[in-house]
Amino acid sequence: MTRVRDITLNDGNTIPQLGFGVFQIEPADTAAAVALALRVGYRHIDTAQMYRNERGVGEAIRRSGLARSDVFVTSKLSNARHRPDDARRAFERTLRELGSDYVDLFLIHWPLPTLYDGDFVSTWQTLEEFKHDGRARSIGVSNFQVDHLARLAAESEIVPAVNQIECHPYLLNEAVRHYGAEHGIATEAWSPIAQGAVLTDPVITSLARQLNATPAQIVLRWHTQHGNIVFPKSVTPARIRENIAFLDFELDDDAINAIDELNRGERGRIGAHPDQFAFVPA
Ligand code: NDP
Repeated sequence: MTRVRDITLNDGNTIPQLGFGVFQIEPADTAAAVALALRVGYRHIDTAQMYRNERGVGEAIRRSGLARSDVFVTSKLSNARHRPDDARRAFERTLRELGSDYVDLFLIHWPLPTLYDGDFVSTWQTLEEFKHDGRARSIGVSNFQVDHLARLAAESEIVPAVNQIECHPYLLNEAVRHYGAEHGIATEAWSPIAQGAVLTDPVITSLARQLNATPAQIVLRWHTQHGNIVFPKSVTPARIRENIAFLDFELDDDAINAIDELNRGERGRIGAHPDQFAFVPA
């Protein structure tokens, strides 16, 4: 198996282009899933305060025998903790839960433009503190639209290293990806296989047959050839292995274009729209 490529971020740090996502993995099941992922070669884990499973991620890393510096860990600020003092306390809790004195990447999970008087800038400035004091090696955002990114550019110091957005063959999210490419913000694609919805598409299944790969491998390969960072989630051991074993073939331009053409724009979105999303956990 070819090694997972590293992507260099705008602050000079590197991130493995393929990782393991733990959204919707029960807290009690997380350590076991992450332990298997680490055993089969994943070196990048994507968690969040709102997933309630940061502790399981930390446990699995500590028990893996790997050095902390061998694993890239991302977490994200809870929607309930955008006010600067709350964000500071929540970040400290993330470090405690992970059992680490730093996190590789820390993100604002959602912009929440309809909450907190529309102020995500002071939240971002709080993440800038974590970057400056070294407890977050890199900082970024998630679910930011072009106008949100433009506002950060106008009103703050640090350009986000990444923007983690919904992106898969049914939602290319081109305007946001394009802004990122123009401004040095790497795109992380969440729900990279659309939670399974794209895997039965005839274009994908036919390429899978031709290339002797699985549908998920075709889609993950398509992402990495587009330069996206991905972290498919699975609790199924065979799939955890399958999702990292896709690096030995390449899609040609025709195949890439055929998958691009599956784009349904807004109709393809499976998650919430960032302009409206206003969920705040208790
Ligand atoms: P994914 O697109 O990764 O799909 C996960 C689903 O697909 C699960 O039901 C899984 O089933 C199934 N699956 C995984 N691999 C395969 C395979 N090879 N063949 C068939 N089915 C498969 O969805 P997610 O929404 O989990 O997104 C991935 C990650 O992105 C999250 O874990 C999280 O880290 C991040 N994310 C971030 C968001 C944000 O707002 N920033 C929002 C959503 C996700 P099973 O587990 O049963 O095997």
